[in-house]
Amino acid sequence: MATAKAAENSTVVKGEFSKASVRDADVSGKRVLVRADFNVPLDGGVVKDDARIRAAIPTIEYLRDAGASVVLCSHLGRPEDRDPEFSMAPVAARLAELLGTFVPVAPAVVGEDVEAVVAGLDSGELLLLENTRFEKGETSNDPGLAEDLAQLADLYVNDAFGAAHRAHASTAGVAEHLPAYAGLLLEREVRELTSVLSDPARPLVIVLGGAKVSDKIGVIEQFLDRADEILIGGAMCFSFFRAQDLETGNSLVEEEGIELAREVLERAEDSDCELRLPTDLVLGERFAADTERKELDGVEVPEGWMGLDIGPETAAAYAESIAAAGTVFWNGPMGAFEMEPFAAGTRTVAEAVASSSATTVVGGGDSGAALAQFGLADKVSWLSTGGGASLELVEGQELPGVGALLEADA
Ligand code: ADP
Ligand code: MG
Repeated sequence: MATAKAAENSTVVKGEFSKASVRDADVSGKRVLVRADFNVPLDGGVVKDDARIRAAIPTIEYLRDAGASVVLCSHLGRPEDRDPEFSMAPVAARLAELLGTFVPVAPAVVGEDVEAVVAGLDSGELLLLENTRFEKGETSNDPGLAEDLAQLADLYVNDAFGAAHRAHASTAGVAEHLPAYAGLLLEREVRELTSVLSDPARPLVIVLGGAKVSDKIGVIEQFLDRADEILIGGAMCFSFFRAQDLETGNSLVEEEGIELAREVLERAEDSDCELRLPTDLVLGERFAADTERKELDGVEVPEGWMGLDIGPETAAAYAESIAAAGTVFWNGPMGAFEMEPFAAGTRTVAEAVASSSATTVVGGGDSGAALAQFGLADKVSWLSTGGGASLELVEGQELPGVGALLEADA
């Protein structure tokens, strides 16, 4: 399981980043293919949240200043074929604003037309390739596509932390054909996230919420051996309550998670880590913002109701643990925070994380969205740009996009 993997993977457990950095590469006068994570939400053809684009700027500016020409690529959404709705054009427009320079979009991902544009790039100039998922070979890590991508550059830099848990042609395959380095963001992500595993300041408090136990089971197992406390919230807690034979009413329960939760509860008994579950809840009749709402002192959800947030007593208790922590890792909202009547638990936890003097590391995805919604995104030590990638890294897995890079000279 994840813990066994963690033990095997000494690189991650020690928290040392053993890969060669873009800073070690001689890039002057070279063409550099940069895989970034520009998979951002769009709204009517405009970038709605540019956090991932901003996070890629340091590597791009570093390369331009060092005299490279920069060929950028990323996936965007899940297009079926070459659907123009998933063109990179809105990303190029936002990137151009942020960099104050023209960012042309290539006519395709690879091929002769693209090679012709790339050949005309001068030192310091940029090109953004079309959506890598316009090519079927991207997700299947097709060797032909990897070679075609490699054809476009002298060096490869992976800065796409948010996609590094996937072995795709642009995140892994291409690294077999070019000298491959870690970008500044990817490097920082790995350092910050693994710092939670390697000698963290104590107490180490892990806050986990979100929809499913099965998504987070690897993280729970990892930290049962390492953390001082694991605080559970979100819909995930209902699998634990069912494992304890408690009534959960109409709450969202992941059936598959009940057995996992039972095993975790057993392991927690023999562990030095304290696993804590909510002691009160906020209920709604339906999963809707305008539903009937009530607070429940206790956790046995009556028929006709669903648990949609942790209650105020639980939120205050969790906030107290977070305030007293030396290190906090948070992943997953405490409730259905997108709906205001059920946002209080997540807000209290977010505020506690933001105001804690601990080292605070937040996995991306919906926890990041929650922090942003409360205006607290810049109040934590590190907010990851990766959802799945941040979880897999903290579980102790080696990410394919990281594994494919050159080893640093010791
Ligand atoms: P993350 O992306 O941070 O890992 P998840 O994707 O696992 O988080 O879960 C986030 C989702 O879980 C949110 O959309 C939120 O509305 C939902 N959620 C949290 N608590 C509940 C609950 N009690 N009932 C239903 N949905 C919930
Ligand atoms: Mg999510």
